[in-house]
Amino acid sequence: MDTGMGMLSWLKSVATALLPGANDDVVNEADEAEDSGLPAVYLLATGGTIAGVGSGAEPVVYRAGAVGVETLVEAIPGINQLARVSVEQFANIGSQDMDDARWLKLSRRVNEVLARDDVDALVVTHGTDTLEETAYFLDLTVASAKPVILVGAMRPSNEISADGPANLLDAVAVAVNPETRTRGGIMAVMHGDVFEARDLVKISTVSPQAFAAPNYGPLGHVYNGQVIFRPQSGHELELFDVATLEALPAVGIVYAHANASAVPVKALVEAEYQGIVLAGVGNGNVHHQLLEALAEAARAGVVVVRASRVLSGPVVRNVEVDDERYGFIAAGTLNPQKARVLLQLALTRTREPGEIQALFERL
Ligand code: ASP
Repeated sequence: MDTGMGMLSWLKSVATALLPGANDDVVNEADEAEDSGLPAVYLLATGGTIAGVGSGAEPVVYRAGAVGVETLVEAIPGINQLARVSVEQFANIGSQDMDDARWLKLSRRVNEVLARDDVDALVVTHGTDTLEETAYFLDLTVASAKPVILVGAMRPSNEISADGPANLLDAVAVAVNPETRTRGGIMAVMHGDVFEARDLVKISTVSPQAFAAPNYGPLGHVYNGQVIFRPQSGHELELFDVATLEALPAVGIVYAHANASAVPVKALVEAEYQGIVLAGVGNGNVHHQLLEALAEAARAGVVVVRASRVLSGPVVRNVEVDDERYGFIAAGTLNPQKARVLLQLALTRTREPGEIQALFERL
């Protein structure tokens, strides 16, 4: 991208942020730029604090998803030494408002863009609140070997020491690194760390070091534009084709605690949810009142997955809860919010607990 963007580009970016639905039309094409031999990186912006604008005073009060993507890129002079960057304002929302409809649209758009010969890699800017869920959804639905990197920030774009520009530059460095492609899978870059979509989890509400991979650790690190990956592990690609899906099956999460009641489970069953993920205590355990309600839900045909509210470690089958007897599924190392993503997609294929358990063991 030409980083010498003028008033017209800036106005376009503001108009895009203000006019929902107009986003797909506002694309700054890299192919207009002179071919420099650099890799072509397509930047899809969805909003978040990385595009947030703060009050500029203490305490900081801010709105996520307020700045257009071109303005974000303008703040990073070094970016066009790494790549030719094209930008598209896909949305401009706080990621707390991410929903199934946007996931389906985003997955389709990512697949379309990656299919283009003139795009080598894709970077998605995203709010950090639900970044881990979107990353995993894309991991399960994007059919391309080209790198896809999600990136966010914890401080709004106009705050002192805003972390967005460095994170975005790091994300582009990872996107163009030749080893990224050989690793495969959707990744996220934050605070100098590279993460796989599956294990990534937000661990701080305010710190710029907001993410961790509690089970398997970061995939690598970025420092001064250099990317250092850890020794290789495998990534199995089993895709869900969502190209023609209008909606995803309804799956809710029920949080376990001491003296937990059956009320939330009953409400989900009554609302005809097809699946329930338990954010259990310990190894996916649950108060007996809740257990009985989950067993009843499973008997009524609702698919029940046991995950854990604990940060790391797997939920293992048939330890303190007899999954075999109840027809439950154990989530392994997927946290409840990611178990929900996989269960939504699994339910588009099957309702059979054995088959769904097998997917949880593979993906
Ligand atoms: N609420 C913001 C969001 O997820 C927080 C962030 O981006 O850090 O969009």
